[in-house]
Amino acid sequence: MQTDGRRILIVDDHPANIEMLNLALGMDYEVLFATNGLDALSIAQTQSPDLILLDIVMPTMDGYEVCSRLKSDPRTQPIPVIFVTGMDMDDDEARGLELGAIDYITKPAHPALVQARVKTHLRLKLYRDALERLSCTDPLTELGNRRALDEFLAREWPLAVRQQTRLSIVLADVDFFKAYNDVYGHLAGDECLKAVGKCLKRASRRGSDLVARHGGEEFAIVLVATTTEGACAVARDAVQRLHDAAIPHINSSVGDRVSMSLGVASCVPAQDSAPSQLLEQADTRLYQAKRNGRNRIVASD
Ligand code: GH3
Ligand code: MG
Ligand code: MG
Repeated sequence: MQTDGRRILIVDDHPANIEMLNLALGMDYEVLFATNGLDALSIAQTQSPDLILLDIVMPTMDGYEVCSRLKSDPRTQPIPVIFVTGMDMDDDEARGLELGAIDYITKPAHPALVQARVKTHLRLKLYRDALERLSCTDPLTELGNRRALDEFLAREWPLAVRQQTRLSIVLADVDFFKAYNDVYGHLAGDECLKAVGKCLKRASRRGSDLVARHGGEEFAIVLVATTTEGACAVARDAVQRLHDAAIPHINSSVGDRVSMSLGVASCVPAQDSAPSQLLEQADTRLYQAKRNGRNRIVASD
């Protein structure tokens, strides 16, 4: 669900404290609750709140521990944390900030103060998110850019290692694209790249997949928890969509329309492996697809 920076997680072992903060915030925001650290971590991972109000003194796992775990998990690291606590010693505050919290509110929390701080930090988070999206977006195709691809792999690779799940990569490269530019011009070339991007985007149906423009006329799809066969099905669908788009290419040696070549690689990543190895495999197969005549998919050696 899209919440536009309006979902807040309140963590406190005393329900009465949660109730008080909920009175201050419940009218303006969607509020989630947890009364212990483990529940807080699990909600933060699965529901992606935009802000966390975190009690420090809790049994079993205290707020400091929750905060440092949130900050060491790439999924929850960007979520701003505000400590809300009865402790008001400077040392406590410093420790919270060192652990990555952005602010500190002392109990009993004044409703207007809570509202003001929350509003400010949510606005800042919206700016940060917008900036992050921009810096990871290819302006021409509006797909992810190279940076988005690298960051996505850096995030998903360790998860796949830990859970021993499969990751697949499809690399696609437009055939005879230099010749396309030569005949139709660079602007038409840009439009063609947008169309190719759309075909790839529509072929990857899962929200968990990443479609990125990897470089000039090269694209990548990363599919999490997907077999080679599943990745090939997506690749075939993209090829079919581009065929149906029927973008004329009189300068192509393999047909009357724009086509692409694709390489597919898949693995359950080993402990000491790196995403670059899988990218290289996909690239080798893409090169084979080119050598074998283009307008085709190569998935194994
Ligand atoms: P192959 O079938 O072997 O892939 O041949 P190709 O001509 O597609 O490959 P090559 O790498 O020789 O040429 C890629 C061309 O893509 C050259 C470059 O001008 C063009 N290109 C790269 N980025 C853009 C872009 O943003 N817009 C346009 N219009 N062209 C681009
Ligand atoms: Mg190329
Ligand atoms: Mg090419």
